[in-house]
Amino acid sequence: MKKYDALVIGGGPAGTTAAFYLLRSGISLAWAEKLSPGGQMLLTGWIENYPGFPKGVTGYELAETFVQHLKDFSYDHFQDEVLEMKLKPGANQVKIGEEWIEARTVIICSGARWKKLGVKGESELAGRGVSYCAVCDGHFFKDQVVACIGGGDTALEESLYLSRIVKKIYLIHRRDKFRGTKVYQERVFKNPKIEILWNTVVQEFVGGNELDSLRLKNVKTGEESILPVNGAFVFIGVAPQADFVPEAIKRDELGFIITDAEMRTNIPGVFAAGDIRSKLCRQVSTAVGDGATAAHSANLYLESFSG
Ligand SMILES: Cc1cc2nc3c(=O)[nH]c(=O)nc-3n(C[C@H](O)[C@H](O)[C@H](O)COP(=O)(O)OP(=O)(O)OC[C@H]3O[C@@H](n4cnc5c(N)ncnc54)[C@H](O)[C@@H]3O)c2cc1C
Repeated sequence: MKKYDALVIGGGPAGTTAAFYLLRSGISLAWAEKLSPGGQMLLTGWIENYPGFPKGVTGYELAETFVQHLKDFSYDHFQDEVLEMKLKPGANQVKIGEEWIEARTVIICSGARWKKLGVKGESELAGRGVSYCAVCDGHFFKDQVVACIGGGDTALEESLYLSRIVKKIYLIHRRDKFRGTKVYQERVFKNPKIEILWNTVVQEFVGGNELDSLRLKNVKTGEESILPVNGAFVFIGVAPQADFVPEAIKRDELGFIITDAEMRTNIPGVFAAGDIRSKLCRQVSTAVGDGATAAHSANLYLESFSG
């Protein structure tokens, strides 16, 4: 079994940054990414809020730029999925594809996935009017008409956020009451820009090159209608990519890994960074900060083994 000082799981902005910081400190590193490096950045057409790119940058270009930082270093890149972890202090065993490796410290940066409605037109129009992130894409719909879909805290909070940017919001919910916190509900009810469509589901995202309307159905009456919109935000939840994470690592009620401000989990030598963490703001910039902090903490942990 190959042995390393550190293993970084995930090649999104958190994992790439953690790997880069660890390599600069001269340790032996294994880096596992099941797909191409870049993470969710590869799903993002245009990123306008990452500092250093005042005119914006495509997700693909930003991902490429991140990976460039690693090109002069020597490390083992496993282009395969992490399937299992056995926690052992200073000698964690991790199964990547068919191979087991051992690492003194592990940084988990396996990210998250926005839940999809799974209706017609959604995948085709994602990034062309269909979005899952108000902070990321809200600005593209300045003074326009959008729909928000969902009834939990995220849908309510993000609708309130978007109401500062857009002209009008249709908040579409399949039930006749919200699940979200009372205080957000009251703010939504009072907001003149938000019109709530109760008992309504989206059956199809309609458009050619870009979204232009939603095909809706009222689940009580069965009535179908077409709602013209410039954009639609799906807020039905976000899920961690954490199938391989052992039960001993503490998680929140949604399954995200709980860390302290130094990215330490409850298991010494195991850190988590980026969207996989239990936190509120899931962005490239916060993932980068988490990755750097986790690498720093992992280095401090590794020092306990030297001399
Ligand atoms: C459509 C969209 C638009 C967005 N727009 C913006 C924006 O404009 N600005 C902004 O700041 N943020 C934006 N975001 C959010 C941002 O992309 C994420 O917050 C950020 O990428 C999180 O980085 P991460 O490294 O934590 O995780 P991720 O980017 O999710 O990367 C995790 C990586 O881990 C890999 N992985 C998962 N499980 C395993 C496993 N078992 N084995 C090996 N590899 C594994 C995945 O393949 C993935 O590459 C957007 C997200 C989406 C989906």
